[in-house]
Amino acid sequence: MGDLMNEPTRALDTNFSDFECTLCLKLLCIPVTTYCGHSFCEPCLKEAVLHKKTCPVCRSPVEVLPARSVVLSQLLQCSFPQQYGARQLEVEQALQIASEAARLPRDLPLYIYPEVFLPEQAGWVRMQQQDAAFLEYVTTRKSGHFVMMSAEVKSPETEGGRTESTRVGAEVEITGRSPQADGSVVVDIKACRRVATESDPTEEDGVLMAKVRAFLDGAQPLDSARL
Ligand SMILES: [Zn+2]
Ligand SMILES: [Zn+2]
Repeated sequence: MGDLMNEPTRALDTNFSDFECTLCLKLLCIPVTTYCGHSFCEPCLKEAVLHKKTCPVCRSPVEVLPARSVVLSQLLQCSFPQQYGARQLEVEQALQIASEAARLPRDLPLYIYPEVFLPEQAGWVRMQQQDAAFLEYVTTRKSGHFVMMSAEVKSPETEGGRTESTRVGAEVEITGRSPQADGSVVVDIKACRRVATESDPTEEDGVLMAKVRAFLDGAQPLDSARL
């Protein structure tokens, strides 16, 4: 009895593998727990729900990104201090690389369209037969990504004094396509991010190309950019 009382207190007999993220198969880092009770690293779940808004384990709907699990994170830091520290560093570096990559200019096919989509907004455009080469290029060489921009939108606020050629639009991703009887194709799209052109569009293999980079302007509504 006396011996038992003198046992050092241990919160939990923690086993490393019980705290693995099922997405990256590493120790959970910045853990979040979904409504269905499954835990993932926050960056892993964020990435997963971009593709499908369901729990990667049980497929329950995940409509919003859950809040960070403070208690779970403390438990991990206490139980595996070294490994958790290394994971934090790893995640920070990955996020850093991703944000740098997002800022680099990218060459993407440009589709002039009067309506500009906002990030996460889904919709469709009807492409005619003359857009077949464009569609082919986007699919085979840009993994379904292209830029949609109206012909007139200019952004006087953009730094660098490129007001003449700078235009704001959206990088969109093709999510589906339905060929129509008249030869046109209804292309389902989803906007990934807002982008601004770096220079005037050029032509490559008969396809209009734009050099764009992420356009970060806070929550400025699109209508005010048009004025
Ligand atoms: Zn993970
Ligand atoms: Zn689940």
